[in-house]
Amino acid sequence: MTNFTYSAAALERLQNSDDEIFNALMREEVRQSEGIELIPSENYCFPEVYALLGSVFNNKYSEGYPGRRYYGGQENTDAVETLARERAKKVFRAEHANVQCLSGCPMNEAVYFALLQPGDTVMGMDLTHGGHLSHGHPVTNMSKIFKFVRYKTEIPSGLIDLEKVRQVALENKPKLIVCGHSSYPREYDYAGFRKIADEVGALLMADISHLGGLVAGGALENPLDFGFDVVTTTTHKSLRGPRGGMILCKKKYASAIDKSVFPGMQGGPHMHQVAALATTLKLVQTDMYKAYAKQVLANAQALAKALLSGGAHLVTGGTENHLIVINTATGFGITGDIAEKALDRVGITLNKNVIPDDPNPPMKPSGIRFGTPAATSRGMRESDMKELADIMIQVLRAPGDDALLTNLHQKTRDLCKRYPVPGLEGI
Ligand SMILES: *Cc1c(COP(=O)(O)O)cnc(C)c1O
Repeated sequence: MTNFTYSAAALERLQNSDDEIFNALMREEVRQSEGIELIPSENYCFPEVYALLGSVFNNKYSEGYPGRRYYGGQENTDAVETLARERAKKVFRAEHANVQCLSGCPMNEAVYFALLQPGDTVMGMDLTHGGHLSHGHPVTNMSKIFKFVRYKTEIPSGLIDLEKVRQVALENKPKLIVCGHSSYPREYDYAGFRKIADEVGALLMADISHLGGLVAGGALENPLDFGFDVVTTTTHKSLRGPRGGMILCKKKYASAIDKSVFPGMQGGPHMHQVAALATTLKLVQTDMYKAYAKQVLANAQALAKALLSGGAHLVTGGTENHLIVINTATGFGITGDIAEKALDRVGITLNKNVIPDDPNPPMKPSGIRFGTPAATSRGMRESDMKELADIMIQVLRAPGDDALLTNLHQKTRDLCKRYPVPGLEGI
């Protein structure tokens, strides 16, 4: 069951030396091929990324930055990291880029430590309203160091009311305002946030982890075009690169940000990851990728429309990006965990999700969240989204009907067969 994502020789050695892990890998390839991935933070990376993640760059220590390293032998790592930084600056129209962050959470933590003192106030979006753990949720280490205050969306519209955000900012005088989310299906008013930050004298950051690829592809607005001080993004979500994080900022914060990432937060950067990111940042400049970014949004529109006409209750009534949240409790009389399980049973992977001010607990929340980046990477289009919505509605109406679910599972398998996963063709 080999395919071109790994070197055949390396794979054969793995099979001989550790069949337990080899078999888990083979099963995971089948799982990713046969099911429809709708988790909006997941995607299939470019096949080129596999080549670099499995490469000898993994072996190299490169503490420091290009031209200023603590170890020798850096001619190739310097070249790779310089390309990654220059490409990141070009793609996002940024004055400075740090491409070493090991992942999304440490990336945001590095920004907090670069710009703030312990005890400073940060204003971010409430987690149950779409914000992210790394924006100061009480369970995180960061909440012990900085004071986080939150803005929320309105009930029942689910939308951000900028005047309310302004009131929270005026009351708390944050040193840093964070825009960004992992389950808000609407565009942010970046210009409006800039005005609020100016009024209260706060620094302004956007965490576009989910949206990075859609911004890079020109399908969504870029907060850097609205004078944001710092923008962070993961590199493995819509961007389709290796797992990792990237910080883009104004030149005046460059040195503070770089020092905060290394040596503040991390030791040696993962150079196989940086190399894979460099290549990703070349690939996202192609017309093909720009068309992909637009198609992600077109597919989300098509999916939302079909679900609405099937009786689903969409939080905010629709979507302006790649993701959709539906209230399964009001629309179908079932909680998100039951919806998640039933959809999993037919080969559709997504996650249960809290809705704004959810009356139900997080493990049995009122909704589900899903999105189109991964399905779009397989080449699915609007007509496929209609087919998918039809299957989803049938499942949500009868999550306990085993015969129906078996029947629908075959339909999703057929749909997947028509669209192989990039890099897993032939599985
Ligand atoms: C995914 C995500 C992160 C964290 O990324 P990890 O790589 O999982 O640490 C941070 N912020 C937002 C908004 C995200 O969606």
